[in-house]
Amino acid sequence: MKIGIVIPCYNEEETLVETTTRVMRLLEELSSKEVLDKESFICFVDDGSQDNTWQMIENLKQQYPSIRGIKLSRNFGHQNALIAGLMQCKDHADALISMDADLQDDINVIVQFVEKFKEGYEVVYGVREDRSSDTAIKRNSAQLFYHFQHFMGIEAVRNHADYRLLSHKALNALAAFKEINLFLRGIVPLLGFRSCSVYYTRAERFAGESKYPFRKMVLFALDGITSFSIKPLRFITVVGFMLFMLSLVGIFWVMIEKFVFGNTVQGWASMMVSLYFIGGIQVMSLGIIGEYVGRGLQENKRRPRFIIDREIV
Ligand code: UDP
Ligand code: MG
Repeated sequence: MKIGIVIPCYNEEETLVETTTRVMRLLEELSSKEVLDKESFICFVDDGSQDNTWQMIENLKQQYPSIRGIKLSRNFGHQNALIAGLMQCKDHADALISMDADLQDDINVIVQFVEKFKEGYEVVYGVREDRSSDTAIKRNSAQLFYHFQHFMGIEAVRNHADYRLLSHKALNALAAFKEINLFLRGIVPLLGFRSCSVYYTRAERFAGESKYPFRKMVLFALDGITSFSIKPLRFITVVGFMLFMLSLVGIFWVMIEKFVFGNTVQGWASMMVSLYFIGGIQVMSLGIIGEYVGRGLQENKRRPRFIIDREIV
């Protein structure tokens, strides 16, 4: 069978050579054992890097003719770079594996991906067993996010990022998902088909620094929620309704105080407190609604998720 390994790269000049050497060595070994076809390949997607990533991909192509490369016209973000690679390569292989450029995901798991595929699984998830190599902030924020996601009713595979195998059939199904705010970990389980997980220990980044600063991570988490769940909107409705009921009681109480007991002067403190409370909730609710309206607008425009500048095959 023929597989393609899709690797999005954003300013990855420090990692590319090592990653290519190791992955090509593995592919060659597997093809000599006749596990894989000789035509199995790596496809690098340069996501608008500012460094020499693209030149390096071109050089690597000289050395390893099977390598493919896609250069996007600008930085579109990890998920979009990934979908670009998957969509461009899906008809050139029996299955595609997506992976990061930094060797954090154990490449030896590729063997198990292939085994599972041969057993008839269309989707194979790579799941990290141990995240001790990630920074504490990253680990904790990821944990928090998984809990929140679950609370919001989104079922994603825990501790699975974007290291996975998708068969040709699964990729064709994925092609039908046209959303702009891509969150692949949420979409892939929606494809259905037979799926399973394989486990590995996540290593440290081989070189360079994370291309996911905190800001990008928060935006990504937000995409993951607003594109899969309308629970936050419902939550606003519920809170609004409860406040309304509470205020009815309040009004009743005020009336009694005024007309029955006639002692209504002070009350400045409680006024201020409730003012800020209601004000805060209102602004927050508007913000949440705004998020969804904004997403709706983006989706409606149907802009392309990526634009290809150059492609080498
Ligand atoms: N990446 C990308 N576009 C971006 C940011 C990241 O293609 O805008 C790539 C990056 O080169 C890497 C992968 O996405 O191959 C994952 O990024 P990184 O390893 O920095 O994320 P982390 O492992 O820290 O979550
Ligand atoms: Mg990484």
